[in-house]
Amino acid sequence: MGSSLKVASVFGIEVRIHLSFLLLLAFFWFQSGTFQGVLFILILFLCVLLHEFGHAFAARAFGIKTRDITLYAIGGVARLNRIPDKPWQELLVAVAGPLVNVVIAAALIFVTHVTAGFQQFEQLESPRIELLEKVARANVFLVVFNLIPAFPMDGGRILRALLAMLMPYARATQIAAWIGQGLAVLFAIFGFLYSPLLIFIAFTVFVGAQQEVAMSRANRPSPP
Ligand code: ZN
Repeated sequence: MGSSLKVASVFGIEVRIHLSFLLLLAFFWFQSGTFQGVLFILILFLCVLLHEFGHAFAARAFGIKTRDITLYAIGGVARLNRIPDKPWQELLVAVAGPLVNVVIAAALIFVTHVTAGFQQFEQLESPRIELLEKVARANVFLVVFNLIPAFPMDGGRILRALLAMLMPYARATQIAAWIGQGLAVLFAIFGFLYSPLLIFIAFTVFVGAQQEVAMSRANRPSPP
């Protein structure tokens, strides 16, 4: 956490920005050279931040504090003090994040459609509507991406929570990790064929699965 700086404290949760996020902003500023491009990234990360607060508030409902939320170039991470005790609690904490993006996307789609309806009568600024539509699409992408059933994505946690309702926690984690790593191998194959970005995601998912298994072993020793 060394190369991140604290920018705010909201409801007792530290909000931090990682150096990689600042580099991403600088890159977009450099590449697009327009305020619009940078504004889009800032709004997008505000949505990511709200997503993380979704996890944090759901966790708080079960008495779990969030140490901090950090924005990285690849997304946000909310560091909870501990994993929820019951699988259904973990399920709700994991679902709460993507649910925030569903609400944002629905609200924006509603607003842009209502505005488009008015637009036939009075000409409104359309670049603003275009930006809102772009943000709505990005939120839909965030929902779909986060629901991929592989650690460290929320979908991996949702899968683990569902499995943990049927079997011991350690076994649920192991099976969820195997499914995630199977998906990672598929991503890597598609990545080699179509997009190097997928190879990077595949690598992150593969390592994330191993870390999750290691962490669950450390946190919860399985009974002898
Ligand atoms: Zn999330």
